[in-house]
Parts: sequence; C-alpha cells; structure tokens
Amino acid sequence: MLKLAQNSTYGFFKMDFIQLPITENLQPKLVGIAVALAVLGITVAYIYFHKKPKVCLDPKNFKEFQLVQRTQLNHNTAKFRFALPTPTSVLGLPVGKHVVCRGRDWFGEEVVRPYTPVTLDSDVGYFELVVKMYPKGRMSHHFREMQEGDYLSVKGPKGRFNYKRGQAREFGMLAGGTGITPMFQLTRGILENPKDKTIIHLIFANVTLQDILLKEELDGFASNFPGRFTVYYVLSQPPAAWNGGVGHISKEMIASHCPAPAPDIQILRCGPPGMNKAMADHLTALGYTSKMQFEF
Ligand SMILES: Cc1cc2nc3c(=O)[nH]c(=O)nc-3n(C[C@H](O)[C@H](O)[C@H](O)COP(=O)(O)OP(=O)(O)OC[C@H]3O[C@@H](n4cnc5c(N)ncnc54)[C@H](O)[C@@H]3O)c2cc1C
Repeated sequence: MLKLAQNSTYGFFKMDFIQLPITENLQPKLVGIAVALAVLGITVAYIYFHKKPKVCLDPKNFKEFQLVQRTQLNHNTAKFRFALPTPTSVLGLPVGKHVVCRGRDWFGEEVVRPYTPVTLDSDVGYFELVVKMYPKGRMSHHFREMQEGDYLSVKGPKGRFNYKRGQAREFGMLAGGTGITPMFQLTRGILENPKDKTIIHLIFANVTLQDILLKEELDGFASNFPGRFTVYYVLSQPPAAWNGGVGHISKEMIASHCPAPAPDIQILRCGPPGMNKAMADHLTALGYTSKMQFEF
C-alpha cells in the first residue's frame, strides 16, 4: 500500500520512496515474472528448433509435387526439381531408399516406376530426380512431356536397403548409367555425416564421357574427401585421351578398385539388368559371398 507523508516545508503530501513497501513487494514478483518469461521463451525456442520437420512422403498414398525446375544434363537426361509444400518441409526419405512415381505413357495408360532422389532430407523445401529418358520408355515419355508447373504423383519411402552407420567398414559400388542415383544418395548421406567414417570405392560405367551423370559432384567428393571416396570411370566408347577404364566393368577392375572380400565390407550394384547379372557373376567368382553383395 502507498504511504503518503506530509512535507512540512511545502505543505503538501508527497510520496516517501524510502519508506514505501511497494517496491520491496514488487521486486520479487517482477523477478519471478521475468524468470517465468525467460523460461517460456527458452522452451518455445527449444521446441521450435528441435521439432521434427513435417515429412511429406506417404508410403501408401500418392502425393502430388510440383515441378519447379527442369535442367537438361545431356541429350537424354534431365534433373527435375520438385517443390515440397513449404520451404521448410523435408521429403522424409531415409538414406538408401527410393520413391515410386506414377505417370502416363503415350497411350494415356498409367505407369509406375521407382526413382532414387539425388537429394537428402538435409535439402529442405525440395527434392530432385535425375532421370534418363529412353526413346521407347513408357515412364520416360511422361518425364519427357513434363513442363515446369506440372505435378508428379509420388509415394514412398520404398526399398530393401536399410542403411545404418557402421554396417560396413568399406563399400564397393558398381554403377551403370542412372544406376548412379542410389550410390550418389548413399555417398552423400555418408560423407555429409561427420560421425560416419565409412570408406567408399565407386566404379561407374557409361558409354561416352557425356553420359557420365553427376561427374562434377563425384569428382568434388573425391577431392574433398581424400581417403574416404574414390571413383573410377569406365567407358565403352572413350574419347581419344582417356585414363579411366575401357569396355565393361571387369573382374580385374573390381579386384583393383574395390575392397577385398571380408565380413565387414559390402559391394553394392545398380545398373541395367544385363550389367547386374554380369557383376553378380564377377563378384561371386572373386569370392564375395551373397551377404557381401547387394543389388538395388
Ligand atoms: C531402385 C531403382 C531406382 C531407380 N532410380 C532411377 C533414377 O533415379 N533415375 C532413372 O533415370 N532411372 C531410375 N531407375 C530406373 C527407372 O525405374 C525406370 O526403369 C527407367 O526410367 C525406365 O523406365 P521406362 O518406363 O521409361 O522404360 P520401360 O518402358 O520400362 O522400358 C522400355 C525400354 O526402355 C529401355 N530401357 C529401360 N530401362 C533401361 C535400362 N535401365 N537400361 C537400358 N535400357 C533401358 C529399353 O529399351 C526398354 O525396352 C531406377 C530403378 C530402380 C529399380
């Protein structure tokens, strides 16, 4: 309660702050309010920064994603960037998994095919597919026709490969053409995780130099992560000056560029059916057990 004291000199009442108990009473209350507000602020900030971003994929139902950018990479391959619902949304695709896309062929018939995004959940607000379009391919037709602004139906995650940090000391990777996409995604996931020390050796087969997808990024991994990532390119139609492999991936190439058979290594492969079969035969002949091999 306010205490008023009479001022004898001036003949009117004034407040005597020395004797007023109000400030003494208010001080602990104000401190209490300030502490409560600070705790509330810290809690709100903690929840905001630690809350799991909303994932967009649904394994059972197709969802529509808008194509926002299409970049031609070579004569038959393009990179498609799709927007997620908000700039902070994440796709929700664990490393090593792929999505399933639905489109229509030239007869208007529905076609569904798997694709592995080259982006990770650390890329917020969008995801990207690198797609090779075959002249007679049904889904290739759908992608060839897609314009910026169009929507693509996508569901997932899908796939048998469940990557866990430390599951292998070293990976050997045998990729052909667009078979690079799961290898690229896994490599990014491993190299961008400071806690993951897995070593990767990639052999990447293509027809011509222009067919090598994501070459700039792969060469960047090799120079930025020496001792962790190596890449050996193999071309069936190499240019005149070429210091990579020539022809198809051979047993000798695997023996000199991939880790030797051991219980804590794995050799992953992804390419056209003919290549996958040839690689399985090479690996088995070199002594890699079925547990040491995985086909995407
Ligand atoms: C797990 C997984 C992930 C994949 N990720 C990607 C990816 O990120 N990007 C990508 O472009 N593709 C990827 N693919 C391949 C993709 O799913 C389709 O198979 C491919 O796009 C061709 O589909 P399509 O309907 O156009 O051809 P289809 O109608 O199925 O085939 C028609 C013709 O196209 C040609 N053709 C099709 N596929 C191949 C091939 N692999 N090699 C040589 N000729 C072929 C053949 O001439 C074939 O007769 C992935 C496949 C799997 C299994």
